[in-house]
Amino acid sequence: MTTATVSRSKFNPVYGPVLSWRYGNSLGIDPIGEISTCSFNCVYCQLGEIEVKTQHRQVYVPTQQILQALAEFAPWDVDVITLSGSGEPTLAANLGEILIGIKTLTHRPTLVLTNGTTLGDPQVREQLALADQVSIKLDGVSTAQVQRINQPIREINLTHLLTDIQEFRRIFPGKLGLQTMILSRWSSSERQEYQRWVKAIAPTEIQLNTPTRPKPLKHELAGRENHASPENLPYEVRKLKSVHPSILKDFAEEIQAQTGIPVRYPPICHSQSV
Ligand code: SF4
Repeated sequence: MTTATVSRSKFNPVYGPVLSWRYGNSLGIDPIGEISTCSFNCVYCQLGEIEVKTQHRQVYVPTQQILQALAEFAPWDVDVITLSGSGEPTLAANLGEILIGIKTLTHRPTLVLTNGTTLGDPQVREQLALADQVSIKLDGVSTAQVQRINQPIREINLTHLLTDIQEFRRIFPGKLGLQTMILSRWSSSERQEYQRWVKAIAPTEIQLNTPTRPKPLKHELAGRENHASPENLPYEVRKLKSVHPSILKDFAEEIQAQTGIPVRYPPICHSQSV
């Protein structure tokens, strides 16, 4: 286990608001801190190469520090307050406390973006269920796909992952999204397997996406936000392959027809929003 020692002198755990095609005007909360920390190291991650790869839960940013910073943003004229930031937010052991604190302070809807790897832990499920909305990343339905795209710290057992998501679904009264990044055209068998997962999970909606922003070569706190001009970023980046919007549209229509679950994908004119 690697534990980061973080200097928080310039770090603000609240950032944005960020305009998102999926969630509207979203104020970001970073419960992870200045050092990017995640159980995945996705090839498209906007944080750059993840600095601390771990599945260890701990308090990374004290709840009080987050709530004090959030108070400065009153009256929180946003659609949603989103926990995401510099890594996997469910690694924050104070996740539940943060969600309760945000609600008490702002009375705004809360959203957590998660990669789902910690959902086997009943404490995580219980804390996460305090959010109004949760979006779970599902970028692949085979071990090879997940290894290639998400580069997890250890191989993901997909049978366990599906059971964990279903278990969370059972106790979660809020809106559950499945979020899938498409980097290349999926085969027919991959698409069918994905639809089997969708039927088994029964999410409220599915969000298909493809990379539209280049990946920073190293971690930049600014990677938490979106940028009006991704071509002129003040740090080194690598271009990512994306699929043509028609591939997202065709897959979305197929999923919706087969499962009855609404599928959203980014409008071309909003391709720069997160
Ligand atoms: S799960 Fe999110 S934070 Fe973690 S590596 Fe992937 S994109 Fe980055």
